[in-house]
Amino acid sequence: MDQTLVQPELVIGGEHRKSSSDGSTFAVRNPATGELLANIPQATKDDVGAAIDAAERSFDIWSETPAPERAEILYKVGEMIRKDKLELAEALTIEEGKAFSESLAEIVEGYDTVMFIAAEGRRMWSYVSPSEQKEKFCMVIRRPVGMIGIITPWNFPFSIPLWKIAPAIIAGNTVVFKPASNTPLIAKTIVDLFERAGLPKGVLNFVTGPGSVVGEAILNDKRIKMISFTGETLTGHRIAQVNSGLLRKQVLELGGKNPVIVAQDADLAQAIPATLYAAFSNCGQKCTAGSRIIVEKPIHAKFMELFVKGAEALRVGNGMRDGVQVGPLITEAARMKVESYVGIGQHEGAKILFGGGRYNDKERSMGYFYKPTVFDEATNDMKISQDEIFGPVVAIMEAQSIENAIEIANETRYGLSSAIYTRDIRSAFKSLAKIQSGIGYVNQGTTGAEVHLPFGGIKESGFGREAGEIAIENYTEKKAVFIDYSYKSRAWFFG
Ligand code: NDP
Repeated sequence: MDQTLVQPELVIGGEHRKSSSDGSTFAVRNPATGELLANIPQATKDDVGAAIDAAERSFDIWSETPAPERAEILYKVGEMIRKDKLELAEALTIEEGKAFSESLAEIVEGYDTVMFIAAEGRRMWSYVSPSEQKEKFCMVIRRPVGMIGIITPWNFPFSIPLWKIAPAIIAGNTVVFKPASNTPLIAKTIVDLFERAGLPKGVLNFVTGPGSVVGEAILNDKRIKMISFTGETLTGHRIAQVNSGLLRKQVLELGGKNPVIVAQDADLAQAIPATLYAAFSNCGQKCTAGSRIIVEKPIHAKFMELFVKGAEALRVGNGMRDGVQVGPLITEAARMKVESYVGIGQHEGAKILFGGGRYNDKERSMGYFYKPTVFDEATNDMKISQDEIFGPVVAIMEAQSIENAIEIANETRYGLSSAIYTRDIRSAFKSLAKIQSGIGYVNQGTTGAEVHLPFGGIKESGFGREAGEIAIENYTEKKAVFIDYSYKSRAWFFG
């Protein structure tokens, strides 16, 4: 696959086209170089309406297509991803900025998702149950939900859409997909892959443009029966508000401020590289980033010494360069947000041990780079310990005991991922039981989802789960079916 062939177009009912407006577009840039990658059509409300019309027209045919036949298309998509994984990873790095190795891991996760979900075409299990009455048969069947609005963020622009599109499609739904405006090209590639695999026209429709216009138009159309959204908690609140007014189904995957506890008995040789990765991979732009590290007092000084040394050694640069581990932030606005939080952290009294600034060299001045930044002496009431900064900034705190560390971990509005480094099985199980999060790790950082396990958060980190066995639950409605084969009139009234 030649990624330069990806055309920035809307895809509505199988037709590839520009915006129906005056041809308005918006620019997408490489965050490592500032280079213009493409001008993307800015869809109008009418374009979104046309996309929903197309999804509606395709629904009957697609939902009546046998699920194993639907699966064949997913298998083909999976095979194409596998074959083109290097080109896809390159395209992802160029548009999103993450290091090539991370892009490759994301592409492989997309492949895993598609293949895992394709197998549902021959499963999608439900159950048969006994009846209270003789000669009656009871069972539960699954039906597709209908037309699904899929709205996704830019930080995992390949795998997150596939987490949603693959199960929606295997279950017989039709889709209107709006990707993040920072990463529409790799998103369009997904749509192209499905088309090349033979997905009928109108099953997967693609509209690009700002959330305030395109996202809102999807959200406010009553024909859309479910919204599957990943993004910021603030946007999630807005989406939940509209969905609740319409009593509509939803899955919301939102922000995080994920704690890593480092117990005094932790193996630091294992914990240091893992916490560095949790904090700084994808430049800290992960919902699961380990952005709060809570270290037990006896090893605090040693941990800081090694962690800072590790942060200093990180190779920050253009993600396409060999050996680079951390790429740029996604936009200048994202970098300015990080800068503002670094100022706030200093004002609040936390101490910067490393980072806290831009790079001055020629190459990195072209992109939105920022130094991995380590705050020590943070306390949990500080904004840098509570707000999702979504950048390479970590707040490190001291705890008096494991119980105290768990308390600190839980004092947050978020509850996505959490981790503990310890060799004590009691501390491990205590933290798994007590930390309020949808995902828990022991001796692994806060990142590293596997597609066959459910993913998602509690508290303000989200509503519902994705992947795992839940994927099919999300995109189907269960219908209870009662079949009376007695051929008798039953006594329906009591007494
Ligand atoms: P945003 O919430 O800003 O945007 C997410 C998507 O929603 C984009 O496509 C955006 O469009 C769209 N959108 C924005 N406003 C509206 C609206 N009013 N109605 C409908 N759609 C709208 O998040 P980001 O893209 O900045 O992504 C980063 C966030 O995503 C972080 O908070 C991160 O934690 C979270 N995230 C959560 C994950 C999880 O699984 N829990 C995983 C990955 C990320 P546009 O791009 O045009 O603004």
